[in-house]
Amino acid sequence: KNYTKEQILHMVEEEDVEFIRLQFTDMFGVLKNIAIPVSRLMKALDNQCVINGDYIDGLGNSEENEYYLYPDLSTFTILPWRPQQGKVARFICDIYHMDGRLCESSPRSILKKVMARAKEMGYEICVRPECEFFLFHTDDNGMPTNITHEKAGYMDTTPLDLGENARRDIILTLEDMGYDIDSSRHELAPAQHEIDFLYSDMLETADKIMTFKVAARTVAKRHGLHATFMPKPSADVDGSGMHIHMKLIKNGKNVFTDPSDSRGLSKDAYGFIAGLMKHIKGMSAISNPLVNSYKRLVTGFEAPYNIIWSCRQNGALLHACHKNNGDTALELRSPDGATNPYLLFALCLAAGLEGIEKDLQAPGDINVDVRKMSREEKKKAGIDSLPANLSVALAEMEKDELIRAVLGNGFVDEYLEKKEQEWESYMEQISEWELSQYLYCM
Ligand code: GLU
Ligand code: MG
Ligand code: MG
Repeated sequence: KNYTKEQILHMVEEEDVEFIRLQFTDMFGVLKNIAIPVSRLMKALDNQCVINGDYIDGLGNSEENEYYLYPDLSTFTILPWRPQQGKVARFICDIYHMDGRLCESSPRSILKKVMARAKEMGYEICVRPECEFFLFHTDDNGMPTNITHEKAGYMDTTPLDLGENARRDIILTLEDMGYDIDSSRHELAPAQHEIDFLYSDMLETADKIMTFKVAARTVAKRHGLHATFMPKPSADVDGSGMHIHMKLIKNGKNVFTDPSDSRGLSKDAYGFIAGLMKHIKGMSAISNPLVNSYKRLVTGFEAPYNIIWSCRQNGALLHACHKNNGDTALELRSPDGATNPYLLFALCLAAGLEGIEKDLQAPGDINVDVRKMSREEKKKAGIDSLPANLSVALAEMEKDELIRAVLGNGFVDEYLEKKEQEWESYMEQISEWELSQYLYCM
C-alpha cells in the first residue's frame, strides 16, 4: 500500500506504536535494523536517520562511512510478535549517501534497478518462493541443535508433525502482516516444513522473505523450537531449498505461454531459460552462498545439481511448469534459504532479460531422469553440473560479465574477497570424516 506520511502518523497513533525499526539487508542477506522511539518518527519520515556503515558488509568500503536511511512507506508493518501494548512497527529502507545519491550497492537498489530496466522493456515479473526450513529442538541452554524426535515425512499430518502448531502460528503471524500464503506442509525430511507465498513482484517478495525468516525464528522459539534455513543441517536427509517460480508479464498477460508451440512455451520463455542456463554457474555464488550450500546439491537427494531444464522432470534445475490455463511459470530449484533474495531476484531477472534481448538459444530440454544417467551419457548429452563447492562458484562469479554489470564491480570484489575468506577458513578445518577415512590407513 502506498501510504502517505499522514496515514503513517495516523496508524502509529491509532495502534499505540512506541518504537519504529528501520530495516535493511546487507550484502550477505542479513537483516539489519536500528530502532527509534516514536518521538523520532518525523525525522525518519523526512529521511534524516543516519547509520554508520563501518561494520555493515557492503557499506564499509567507501570513503564516507555514514548513510541515510530512506524508509519505504509502503513497507510499514506492525511486528505482531512484539508487545501488543506499546507496539513495534518497521519500515524497510533504501540507503542513500550523505550527498543525496542513492547507494547503488545496496541489495534493494540493485534489484530496483533491474526491475526498472525490465519495465522499460515493457516487462513485469512475478515470483512465488517455496520456503523450506527445519524446526529443531533446542538444548538445555536454549541453543539450537539439529536434533528432532519427529518422524513425519512429506505432507504428513498430526500427531506425527510436532511442528504443526509452530507452523500454524508462523502462518497466522505472516497473515497478520498482510502476507498472502499459498499453502504450507510438512516436507520430506523429519522436522522439515515448507511455506509457499502467492505470486507478487520481486521487490515485495524479497522484502517478505527477509521478514518471514525473522517471524519464523521468533515464533518457533515460543514453541521451544529453532527454525533454521541452513541449507543442509543433517547429512542423511534432504536439505532446505528456496525454489523460485517466475512469471513474466507484458500488458497484464503472461508472456511465457504460446499454445502453438509443442511445449506450450513462447519465444520469451525460451530466451529467459537460455539466459538463466547461461549464467546459473556464476549466480550460484548468490543463490547458494555458503560452504554448506553445496552439501545440499549432491547425489541422492531432491536438490538439483545437473544444469538442465525440463517440462516433465519436476526435479530439474529449471522446471517449466506449463499449466493448461496458459499460466506458465519457470521454477528455479537450486536456490537455498541462505540466499540474499534481492540479489538472487536481480540476477534471475537480468539473466532472463539478457536471454530475451540477445535472442540466446536455450539448450535442449531433458525429459529423462538424469540422475540415472552415467557420467559418459551425461557428457555425450552435454550436461554440465552446478559448481561443486563455494570456491568454484566464486571463480564462476568472478568471470561472469553480466553479474559484474548487475551487482557492480566494487560489490563483486568485496563479495568475492569476504567469501574467499570463508572458504579458506573452512579449508583449514580437519573434519571427523577425514580423520576416520585417512588417519589409520594413510
Ligand atoms: N528439499 C528439496 C531441496 O533441497 C526439495 C524438495 C521439493 O521438491 O520440494 O530443494
Ligand atoms: Mg519443497
Ligand atoms: Mg518446488
